[in-house]
This record gives sequence, structure tokens and C-alpha cells, in this order.
Amino acid sequence: MKIHVNAIPMEGMDLEKDIMPLDLNLETKSVYYSDKVHLKVHAERDKDILSADCYLKTTKTQICSKCTAEFESIVEKKEKFIYQLTGEHVVDLSDDIKDTIILDYSIRPLCKQDCKGLCAECGNNQNIEQCNCKVKKWQK
Ligand SMILES: [Zn+2]
Ligand SMILES: [Zn+2]
Repeated sequence: MKIHVNAIPMEGMDLEKDIMPLDLNLETKSVYYSDKVHLKVHAERDKDILSADCYLKTTKTQICSKCTAEFESIVEKKEKFIYQLTGEHVVDLSDDIKDTIILDYSIRPLCKQDCKGLCAECGNNQNIEQCNCKVKKWQK
């Protein structure tokens, strides 16, 4: 998302854009996107200060660190970016938008708070169905 500074009228302007997650380099080994990043910006300029009120929404897919199931979550953010202009005509918001989204990435994402994970014995996903491994062990 690039803002042409000289195109901003006195009252500010509204911009809307759908950005491909690929263009922002948002995807990692365990996070990917089936949706675009929907971005709305209200930009205002006061002399050499550019302020951009951003609202963005998308859906990310992650892999649960416990049970390895894929799960989706909505990403919704409101941020205000302030730029000090030093003679440039175009300001690119892409890096700040990327940082805003990536800041929320978890090292250990969970499909739900109480994910039961996989059974260490048989690899069964305990969220779907409880296996009998624990019971068997207990009876030995
Ligand atoms: Zn899980
Ligand atoms: Zn088991």
C-alpha cells in the first residue's frame, strides 16, 4: 500500500486495497493464508507529517503446536501510523502493516486453549477421540 503524499487533499483521503499475503511476506512454515489482507486507510497530511489510520482484516491458518491440526483465526487490527516526511512523494505502508500482523504470531500456536494434543504412545489426536493407551498402561 503506497500513499502519494501530494494527492492527499486538505480533508484527508480514504483508500482501500486488498493485498496478497505473499506480497507482504506473511507466510511462514506454520502460518499461511487463504484470504487476502483487506486494508482500509484514512490518510491525512499536516505539512510534513503524514498520519495513516489503518484497519485491516484477514484470516490466517496455523498449525496447532500440540495436535498438529490446522485451524483458522481472524486477524483484525486497528493501527495509526505516523510518518515524518522528508521530501518524499510516496510513502509505503507495507512494512508497518506486515509488522503489525506478524507481531501476533505465536511460537506455540494452539487450536484451542485446552487442546489435549496427540497421544505420545499411538499418535492419536485426543481432541477427536480418546485412545486407550493411558488406561492400558495403568492396568499393567
Ligand atoms: Zn490442537
Ligand atoms: Zn494412544
